[in-house]
Amino acid sequence: MRSYTPRDMNGLCRQCFMREPWCLCELVPRIETEVHFVIVRNFKEAYKTSNSGRLAAMALSNCTLMDFGAVDSNYNPSVLEGESVWLMYPSTGGAPGLGGKEEFPKPDKLVILDATWRQARRMSQRMEAVRMLPRLSLWPASMETDRIRQKPHDWTMATIEAIARAVETFEGAEKAKQLDELFERMVLHYRAMKRSISVERYLAELEREKVGTEGGD
Ligand SMILES: [Zn+2]
Repeated sequence: MRSYTPRDMNGLCRQCFMREPWCLCELVPRIETEVHFVIVRNFKEAYKTSNSGRLAAMALSNCTLMDFGAVDSNYNPSVLEGESVWLMYPSTGGAPGLGGKEEFPKPDKLVILDATWRQARRMSQRMEAVRMLPRLSLWPASMETDRIRQKPHDWTMATIEAIARAVETFEGAEKAKQLDELFERMVLHYRAMKRSISVERYLAELEREKVGTEGGD
C-alpha cells in the first residue's frame, strides 16, 4: 500500500505503530463492508502513534489509505472516482445533516479526511477531486469523543470513530461496535504506553481508582 519505507521505526510495530509491548495487531478484527472507505490522510498524521485512521484501515477489508501533502505521498485522485462517492464531513450546523439516514442509499465509496479540523478544511479546498464531492454529515462538528487528543478547536472526533458512525449507518451496529471496541483498546494501549506500564497494570489501576471513587461517596 505504501510506496515508501518508513523512517527509523525505533522499536515501533511497523503495522500499528505502537511500541512493541503495546502492539495492537493481534486484536484487530477483520470487518467486511460493502462500502469502500477511502481515507485521505494528511502526511503529518502518517507517523503519529495516535493516528487512528491507520487502525481503521487495518480492520476494514474494503479500505484504501492514501497520504496527502508530502512529495513522496501515495495520493491518487483516481481512487476517488466512482458512481456514488461522498465525502464524510462534520456538520457545522451542530446537528448531523443526514435527516432520514435509513433511506439514504448506500454509497459506493465514502471518503474521509484523516487530519486535524483545520488541515481537513484546507485539504478539502486544495484537492480538486475532494472539493467536488458531495458531502455527507453523520456527526456534528461539536461532538467531542476523541479520547486520545482532546484538543480544543481540533478535529474533535477520531477518524476511526467517524468511520464507525458510517459503518453503523450503512453496514449495521454489530460491525460498528467492533470498530468502537478496537478504538477503546487503542486508547488503553496508548495511555499505558505513554506511562510505560503494561496494559494489565493500567487496567488494574483504573479499577482501583473506580473502587476508590465509589468508596468515597
Ligand atoms: Zn502492531
